[in-house]
Amino acid sequence: MKKSVITIAVAATVGLGTIFGAAPLKIEAESISKLKGEQNKIQEKRSDLKSGINQANDKISDLQNQQADVKSEMKRIDFAIGDTTTKINEKTAKIEETKAEVAKLQEETKVIKERIEKRNVLLKDRARSYQETGGMVNYLDVLMGSTSFSDFIDRANAVATIMQADQDILKQHEADKKELESKQAQVETDLASLEKMLADLEKMNQQLSAQKAEKDKLLGALKNQEAEEHEHIMDLTEEEQLLAAQDAAIQKAIKMEQEAQARAAAEAAKAAKNSQASGGGGASTTIPNNSSGYWTQPAVGRLSSGFGGRGDGNHYGVDIANATRVPIVAAADGVVIKSYSSTSYGECIFISHSINGQVYTTVYAHMSSRIAGNGAVVKKGQQIGVMGNTGASEGQHLHFELHKGPWTQDKRYAIDPASLVPLPGR
Ligand SMILES: [Zn+2]
Repeated sequence: MKKSVITIAVAATVGLGTIFGAAPLKIEAESISKLKGEQNKIQEKRSDLKSGINQANDKISDLQNQQADVKSEMKRIDFAIGDTTTKINEKTAKIEETKAEVAKLQEETKVIKERIEKRNVLLKDRARSYQETGGMVNYLDVLMGSTSFSDFIDRANAVATIMQADQDILKQHEADKKELESKQAQVETDLASLEKMLADLEKMNQQLSAQKAEKDKLLGALKNQEAEEHEHIMDLTEEEQLLAAQDAAIQKAIKMEQEAQARAAAEAAKAAKNSQASGGGGASTTIPNNSSGYWTQPAVGRLSSGFGGRGDGNHYGVDIANATRVPIVAAADGVVIKSYSSTSYGECIFISHSINGQVYTTVYAHMSSRIAGNGAVVKKGQQIGVMGNTGASEGQHLHFELHKGPWTQDKRYAIDPASLVPLPGR
C-alpha cells in the first residue's frame, strides 16, 4: 500500500517535470544567478579583506620606518651622552687639579705670612733695641765716631743701607704675599667656573638620559603597534582564507545545482521515503531522524543552551548535550569549507550550504573526532564527526551555529538555528 503511494508520487513529480519542462530550467537559472550574487558578495568581501591586509602592511612599513628613525635618534643621544660623560670626567679631573693648586697656594701664602711675621718681629726687636740704647743716639754714636768726613759719609750710608734693606725685604714679602693672594683668588674663580661647568654637564647628561628613556618608551609603543598589526593581518588572512574556501564551495554548488535540480523529483521522493521510515519508529537512537525538509537535526541529545541564551547574551549558536558519544551529522547538503582543530572550537567543521540560492554556513564544534575533510561534499544527515568535549568546552556537547551568509569573525550573520533546523527539546 505504502509502496504504491511512493511510486505514484515519484511518477507525479517526474511527470510534472516532463510536462512543465521549461519551469525547472527557469528555477535553475534563478538559483544559479542567486548563487552568483552570493559569490560576488563574498568576492567583494575578500577584496575588502585584501585591501585591509595591504593597509595593515603599509602601516607596518610606516611603523618600521618610525622605529628606524627613533633608533637613529637614540644613537645620536647615546653619542651625546658619551661626549658629555667624557667632558664630565675631564672637568672632574681638572677640578681635582685646581683644588690641589689652591691647597698649594694656601700653603705658600702661609709660609710667606710666617716669614713676614718673623721679619716684623725682627724689625720690632731692632727698633726696641734702638730705643733702649737711645735710638738715634746710637746711630749718632756711630756717626760721631767717624774719623773723617768721608768716614762719616760711609757710616751714614751704612746705617741708611741697613734700614733700607730691612724695609725692602719687608716690602718684597708683602708683594709676594699679595701676588700669592691674587693667584689664589684667580684659581678659586677658575674652580668655581669649573664646578659650574660640571654641574651644567651633569644636568645635560640627565636631560639626555631622560630623552633616551622617552625614545625607548616610544620604540616599545611602536613595536607593540606593529605586533598588533601583524595579529590583525593574521585575523584578516584567516577570514579571507575561509571566504576563499566558501567562494570555491559556491562554485562547486553552482555546478551541483544543475544536477540537484535535475534530480529534484527523485530527491523529493527519497525525502518522503525517509520521512515515512522515521515515522515508522525504526530510527536509530544515536543518528538523528533525517527530516524531510532542507534541514535535519545535527545530533541526538537535549538542548542544553539556546541561541543568545547566556548571561552575556553572546551565545551565537545552540548546544546539544548527550552523555553518549553520539554521531554528528550535516544539518543540510553542502560542502565542508573548513575542517580543523581550534583552541576555542576544538575539533570543528564548517559547512557551506546553498539553498535556493541563499548561502548558509553551519558550524559543528567541540567534537571528539572529525570524519569529513576540507572540500568534502556532504549530504543532509551524513555523519561528519562524533560528539565530544574538545576546545573551550565544559562537558560533552555539540555547539552548533547557523549563519545566513558566510561565517565572519564578528558572527554578524548568525541566526537562531531553531528558526530553520529541527532541534531536540530541553
Ligand atoms: Zn554553545
